[in-house]
Amino acid sequence: MAVDADCHYQPKKRGIFKMSDCGSCGPSGGGPFSEGLELVEFVSNAHGGGVKNAPIPNGGLQTKCQGCGAPFKMITFVSKCPKCGGVHAVSPPRAEDPNAVQFAGVGYKQP
Ligand SMILES: [Zn+2]
Repeated sequence: MAVDADCHYQPKKRGIFKMSDCGSCGPSGGGPFSEGLELVEFVSNAHGGGVKNAPIPNGGLQTKCQGCGAPFKMITFVSKCPKCGGVHAVSPPRAEDPNAVQFAGVGYKQP
C-alpha cells in the first residue's frame, strides 16, 4: 500500500517563511473551524479521505460558488462547482450552515 500514516502527514504547511504575519493566530494546522483552503484541505484529508466523499445529511447543502457565483448543491463534504470546477468544502459539524462553506480558491485542484 502506498498510502498510510496520513494522519501525520502535513503537506508543506509549516516552516514556510511565515513568521511575521502570524502574531495573533493560534498554532497552525487545519480544523473543522478553519477557513478557506485550510478547511478544504482539512476535510479532504479527514479520516484518510473518507469524509470528503461522504454524503451531506438531508440530501445536500444548497450554496453558491464563491468563485463564479453559480448556485449549486453540495452533495458531499467536498464538492465542486459544476460550472467552474471550484472546490468547496464544509465540515461535518457545520453541514447545515451554508455560510460555513469554504472555497479553496480559484485554480485549486484536488490532489
Ligand atoms: Zn463556480
